[in-house]
Amino acid sequence: MQKHNFSAGPCVLPKEVMKKASEAVIEFNGLGLSLIEISHRSKDFVEVMDNARALALELLGLEGKGYQALFLQGGASTEFLMVAYNLLEKKAGYINTGTWADKSIKEAKLFGEVVEVGSSKDENYNYIPKGYVVPNDLDYLHLTSNNTIFGTQIKKFPTVNMPLVCDMSSDIFSRVLDFSQFDLIYAGAQKNMGPAGTTLVVIKEDILGKVSRQIPSMLDYKVHISKDSMFNTPPVFPVYVSMLTLEWLKNLGGISAIEEINNKKAQLLYSEIELNPVFEGYAKKEDRSNMNATFTLTDERLKEEFDKLCKEAGINGLNGHRSVGGYRASMYNALSLESVGVLVDVMSEMERKG
Ligand SMILES: *Cc1c(COP(=O)(O)O)cnc(C)c1O
Repeated sequence: MQKHNFSAGPCVLPKEVMKKASEAVIEFNGLGLSLIEISHRSKDFVEVMDNARALALELLGLEGKGYQALFLQGGASTEFLMVAYNLLEKKAGYINTGTWADKSIKEAKLFGEVVEVGSSKDENYNYIPKGYVVPNDLDYLHLTSNNTIFGTQIKKFPTVNMPLVCDMSSDIFSRVLDFSQFDLIYAGAQKNMGPAGTTLVVIKEDILGKVSRQIPSMLDYKVHISKDSMFNTPPVFPVYVSMLTLEWLKNLGGISAIEEINNKKAQLLYSEIELNPVFEGYAKKEDRSNMNATFTLTDERLKEEFDKLCKEAGINGLNGHRSVGGYRASMYNALSLESVGVLVDVMSEMERKG
């Protein structure tokens, strides 16, 4: 039976990527060896790493603009501390838009003063703070572009006179932005790019080298840049699959092409949530995410019935995060419009049944 995978992460990846990845595990590049048993210093793997790094910059429109792309380990959660380790000398600003932002704040506090410039904690993160004033003496301002758990997404980014750092784990490569407004972008691969195990970090090189503390090599962006993202053994399989996904995206027409499809998916689902009295959206309308749609049943007693219909339709991964409850439909790049259609059909069937 065909499955429709709405999982929040790890999540759906393009079928053709999965096929190529599985073949490479058996034999890579006609070498008579598997991708995961050859040296990461071999010409064949170095090409994969170089290609993945170049594709990331190309798709983001950041080639030749002083940026470097790295594929690191330790998840986006390690970037919470690496960002502060490498950039926080005295004071940093954070916009607290959810669980992940809150965790990044906790790590940053180990390295210096942290100002919560804006927060939506007062309403359990169902909106994006606006109209906040950014102090002008910050080492950097940190944002989370898409709040995976609460289903909110920043639509308009602040203009600031300091480095802008953004956790884009759950919406990187999903919409057209002027990515050059950011000085450091990071994203765990498992939401929109590949399997868990690698994190893409895109850094404008000139923001580095400004803190006075000593940085351990593995946590030092400069070390990783100087070694072309091969300071130690990189996660070869996640990097390879990420490269395949980026190639898939490029062949599709890049970010603008996928954005068009993502907009259609989001419109289809959100209009159903709005019109169908059985369901209610969680996030404020103007801030809702095109990647993760959070919603609840207006009558909890219908849960069993809805879950059953979803299961029969092959829908997977629709349960909301425990801090919000209800449901969350994650519509990452590789989820088809058809899958969203299947979910919307089940939702309208719920309404018909009354
Ligand atoms: C999933 C997620 C993280 C955590 O990623 P890990 O790779 O599990 O450390 C951080 N930020 C956001 C926005 C996420 O969605």
